[in-house]
Amino acid sequence: MSVLVINSGSSSVKFQLVDPSDGRSIASGLVERIGESSGHVALTYEGETTENSAPFPDHGAGLRSAFEMMKERGIDLSDAGVTAVGHRVVHGGEVFSEPTLIDDDVCRKIDQLSSLAPLHNPPNLQGIEVARRELPDIPQVAVFDTAFFHALPAAAATYAIDSDVAAAHGVRRYGFHGTSHEYVSGRVAEFLDRDPTSLNQIVLHLGNGASASAVRGGAAVDTSMGLTPLEGLVMGTRSGDIDPGVIMHLRRSADMSVDEIDELLNRRSGIKGLSGVNDFRELRTKIESGDDAARLAYDVYIHRLRKYLGAYMIALGRVDVITFTAGVGENDLNVRADTLAGLEMYGIVVDPERNAVRSKDARAISPDGSPVTVLVVPTNEELAIARAAARLVG
Ligand code: ADP
Repeated sequence: MSVLVINSGSSSVKFQLVDPSDGRSIASGLVERIGESSGHVALTYEGETTENSAPFPDHGAGLRSAFEMMKERGIDLSDAGVTAVGHRVVHGGEVFSEPTLIDDDVCRKIDQLSSLAPLHNPPNLQGIEVARRELPDIPQVAVFDTAFFHALPAAAATYAIDSDVAAAHGVRRYGFHGTSHEYVSGRVAEFLDRDPTSLNQIVLHLGNGASASAVRGGAAVDTSMGLTPLEGLVMGTRSGDIDPGVIMHLRRSADMSVDEIDELLNRRSGIKGLSGVNDFRELRTKIESGDDAARLAYDVYIHRLRKYLGAYMIALGRVDVITFTAGVGENDLNVRADTLAGLEMYGIVVDPERNAVRSKDARAISPDGSPVTVLVVPTNEELAIARAAARLVG
């Protein structure tokens, strides 16, 4: 039994065939540069990677090529025991609070939510449409990035603007990376062998995109991303929190259009905007070579993270676990150490030796018996999507 997980982005599609019972990745691949003059598809199966370059005018062409490649390698999706296709969908708005079996009506609703996520929902939907066409006999399930935050307390979900305007335009905090925050906070309880309802947790998902969440007894009570995935922490290329007045100022004084400001804040800001690079390995190399801009970018990043940490410690009242996850959180020991430095009086301590261990497994990096347990827990959104899809189709 397996689930095909599809994460369809603007110019790329990630796919993975996952065994939801044990999390094994049976095959995985990536279609890139869709819509460009030369596209690329790669498939890894049984330890061997096959690649192919060809133009893919649209997502359909890209995914068909990936399915063809799987067939050539002996994986025929239509009779490979694939019980479901699980799709990552970024924005579920107020409509979707849990994984949902896809039909025409669901597609229409995902399409209607595109105004809230113009960069994400349209390509997500394209992936769904292609998979429905190519694999018509396999049930398709949408798993929403926003779902885990659907029931945020009103005080955390509400922006303090004219409530009629907010209601008319769906302006509220939706939160993103929900599949990861839910998966990781669940893994934390498993790892600690604790009942999830007994734990107060802060989860720091630090990848290219980054978000923090406060989770009480298994339910999210606050999160740093908002109406869009732009709010909150400093990210690889996104600004995170910014005075909304900056946007009006740039519109009026720099004569930038809304699209130009959108592009500035989403693609030319964050670590990249400040230092020129967005990968933390390159940032570290620059810092070590004495680059002041790189140092400042790092300091701004850590400063923002600590601000959220403090806010969520107060929101939760008692914190049992702080967990780092995603590319930066799982790999960058400096980020982990600097985020939690000097917080001994709150019971938060990082053991330098434990923090230096490199591993793909969940692990504690605080000393045994610390009042607050600090963990590194690898996220696995594909597995979470596969499990949600498998659960839904029974
Ligand atoms: P996303 O899914 O948001 O694209 P990931 O969670 O895969 O991102 O994180 C990617 C980021 O993780 C990279 O841009 C890089 O900054 C960081 N990263 C990956 N490996 C390492 C490493 N060994 N050391 C430090 N940072 C790393």
